[in-house]
Amino acid sequence: MLEKGKKYECKIVDMGQTGVGIGKHEGFTVFVDGALLGEVVDVKIKKSKKKYAEGVVSKIKVRSPYRVDRVCNPKYSNCGGCQIQELDYEKQLDLKTNIVKEDLKRIGGLDDVQVFDAIGMDQPFRYRNKAQFPVQMEDGRVKIGFYRKKSHDIIDMDKCVIQDEKNDLIIDIIRRYIEEENISIYDEKTHKGILRHIVTKVGFTSGQVMVVLVATEDRFKNLDRLIEVLKREVAGFTSLVVNINKDKTNVILGRKNINKYGRGKIIDNIGDLKFEISPLSFFQVNPIQTEVLYSKTLEYADLKEGDRVFDIYCGIGTISLFLAQKAEFVYGVEIVEDAIKDARLNADLNGMDNLDFFVGKAEEVVPKIYKEGKRANVVVVDPPRKGCDERVLDTIVDMEPDRVVYVSCNPSTLARDLRYLEDRGYRCEKVQPVDLFPHSVHVETVALLSKLDVDKHIDVEIKLDELDLTSAESKATYAQIKEYILEKFNLKVSTLYIAQIKKKCGIELREHYNKSKKEKQVIPQCTPEKEEAIMDALRHFKMI
Ligand code: SAH
Repeated sequence: MLEKGKKYECKIVDMGQTGVGIGKHEGFTVFVDGALLGEVVDVKIKKSKKKYAEGVVSKIKVRSPYRVDRVCNPKYSNCGGCQIQELDYEKQLDLKTNIVKEDLKRIGGLDDVQVFDAIGMDQPFRYRNKAQFPVQMEDGRVKIGFYRKKSHDIIDMDKCVIQDEKNDLIIDIIRRYIEEENISIYDEKTHKGILRHIVTKVGFTSGQVMVVLVATEDRFKNLDRLIEVLKREVAGFTSLVVNINKDKTNVILGRKNINKYGRGKIIDNIGDLKFEISPLSFFQVNPIQTEVLYSKTLEYADLKEGDRVFDIYCGIGTISLFLAQKAEFVYGVEIVEDAIKDARLNADLNGMDNLDFFVGKAEEVVPKIYKEGKRANVVVVDPPRKGCDERVLDTIVDMEPDRVVYVSCNPSTLARDLRYLEDRGYRCEKVQPVDLFPHSVHVETVALLSKLDVDKHIDVEIKLDELDLTSAESKATYAQIKEYILEKFNLKVSTLYIAQIKKKCGIELREHYNKSKKEKQVIPQCTPEKEEAIMDALRHFKMI
């Protein structure tokens, strides 16, 4: 075991998913914050365990050829925003590609899926259209900036090189306003004070700018003066909103918005489409790479005339609208009501009427609208970090779309969900990581899954003439069971599924059920919903 507080020499042999260097000291594993692959460093131990230790670099003895200087300010090296800014950008992309490959292998057991190299940016700076700066008061001094790594201390900053340049100017103006008007600043510990966060949103193509002051109360002195300065000095300034958040919470924005200047919204374009963005609506933070991501999604969806699409976890309908340019019809599903309002508005704004949106939890709404008869032959999902709920995946499996395009912000839940679909009749064809967040360890990924043609891909031979010769007293043919289920439940079930359930119920099958000799034989498993329907049919035909 290494001793806490002491320094040890380590050689960095790998990099972890959080951007941390994985080092060895005499064979013992040490996770080293601030160290890059290939470096030899002295590390100060912060945490010591039996099998590993964690620490921070105290001295770089052999510098990685891929180490580059921080572009913003050496003082910001503890900023929690950019974990890997000091790693050469090409190497950042390699790291992200590897993160995706490894998760697919380790978690999804997907060894031979084609994973392309992450698509990066030509100019990986000044790419963010949204900033959220916490504000604190320390010894009578205003601090506006970013949280220090693993803490709620603020690193005061005057420029952030991943943000749109206008944000540096806005922070400067608001800092002056706070000082001159003696604005009360919120204190997390005592839960007293007013101003908590400054949030800005910038439209990259429209140039429009919205500033949101997140506060416990709508009580700002001489706000008109601030508005005048913002109008005069910030090109494109169109909206000032006070957002009320009274809760003891880490969630930045509250529910209530009060427009102080302008419409409380900005417009931006992605590709040929226009979007209205409000303070609460989710909009990807890197508009340049978002276009790359959505174009890839559209390419993988490979829409043809007459295709109908589900866009699950649709936010303000960005991907839905992209798809609706080609699809016959798109159904979007999203949990945030305001986002769905925006989605409908956005469809109108772009003169599109081949979309319909549903509010609610995807795990409830998707099975419900499927039962009501809504169908798609292409499904797109873009879930939050925790991935898709199984009820969503089960409904997709039941619906049997030809293609599923999975857009993911978390490779590990992506891998888990791809495995789930692979076990149920889908094959992951290809995977494309896209770098939406240069200098952070985050990566977006698009994966294409295609429905396996059961007859072609699954060597299960079922001799139909023998199928209905069961030992049950009463029996129905597979065709009758299928017909009954389609009529009663509006569900299509395969012969294979019926055979599986019959077997489960102890009904003797005389069909040959020959598995192929191929390794990793994929046999789709009947979903709970279809199982229930088949059981109902078996009961109806008095077979059980
Ligand atoms: N496709 C959109 C948004 C993707 S982010 C875009 O590209 O802009 C994921 C979205 O899932 C968010 O809008 C979030 O509000 C929504 N979400 C989270 N949990 C959900 C759930 N259980 N059901 C439906 N939507 C959910």
